[in-house]
Amino acid sequence: MKNKHTDRDRSFAVKLMQDLVVPTFVLDAACQVIIWNRACERLTGVAAKDVIGTREHWRAFYDAPRPCLADLVVQGRTAEIEQHYTSFDKAGDHESGFHAQNWCVMPKLGHEYYLAIDAGPIYDAGGELMAVVETLRDMTEQKQAQSALERLAACDGLTGIANRRSFDEKLNLEWLRARRDKTLVALLMLDVDHFKLFNDHYGHQAGDECLRRIAECLAALVFRPGDLVARYGGEEFAMVLPSNDSNGALMIAQRARDAVRALAIPHAHSPFGVVTVSIGVSSGVPESGVSHDALVKAADSALYQAKRVGRDRAAVEPMPRSLAGS
Ligand code: GH3
Ligand code: MG
Ligand code: MG
Repeated sequence: MKNKHTDRDRSFAVKLMQDLVVPTFVLDAACQVIIWNRACERLTGVAAKDVIGTREHWRAFYDAPRPCLADLVVQGRTAEIEQHYTSFDKAGDHESGFHAQNWCVMPKLGHEYYLAIDAGPIYDAGGELMAVVETLRDMTEQKQAQSALERLAACDGLTGIANRRSFDEKLNLEWLRARRDKTLVALLMLDVDHFKLFNDHYGHQAGDECLRRIAECLAALVFRPGDLVARYGGEEFAMVLPSNDSNGALMIAQRARDAVRALAIPHAHSPFGVVTVSIGVSSGVPESGVSHDALVKAADSALYQAKRVGRDRAAVEPMPRSLAGS
């Protein structure tokens, strides 16, 4: 009688799981699929009959063999979660389960989903692992919205290029990387010449349009993935150029100067007749205990030189001696 009850309870539990609106699958202690519910079929496009009794569940999510979160939990390989997932919850353990998030390619459906994944182990009365339940939540829309917000927060509202915040983050990152690898990092600070007079003569809106065109032109000059062009503030721009010595950075500065001149934006109150920029260049190998402010200061001082000796040109200022690169 008692057994009959247990059987009924068990099939009721399986039915509940089958109809659960949360996409769920269950692996036994040998990593074989024992439950693949309807919501999981809908999410992945893979039918339960094609996966139950197999270890092929990864095919529902990825186009190359790899463990799913439940496999890692079954096999006690939870230390590897970090390397397989975009993000994971460090606080996960065998009591509370494990949580991770990942982009999944869903080969059967042909589109990517960003999934929040929970894997919870189930033990028998003797404490032996019986199964691991993996539940999935489609977070694609939230992830895309979050990424769009992050992109927006990193961009300058007027010109669309990186803003001051991104510049600070990038320079700090490259500075730390260059310090670790003992490599060079170069910085260009660019300032539009006689821009107050431009605004006064052509109006603030024309000034804004001029800044937009300069930003677009500067952004088109750099190709390496590590490079960054940012609006530093007002009519000032900055370029972070990892692995460049002063000569390389000066060449890019000359290119930037020529490109802005070539825009041929008329400037009636400039001695050059068109909008121009002055550029300060500096490069160095970071030393420990020195912040990236040293590089900004040196590039700023070079910019001041370029202004002082006539504008529409680039000048180089070496980093302080103990920091200078080749
Ligand atoms: P210099 O050649 O020495 O750099 O002279 P300058 O006139 O460019 O320098 P100054 O610092 O005197 O003036 C900068 C001007 O840039 C003043 C300010 O109105 C203008 N400016 C700063 N930000 C913006 C902006 O977002 N839009 C517009 N239209 N103008 C801006
Ligand atoms: Mg300025
Ligand atoms: Mg200026």
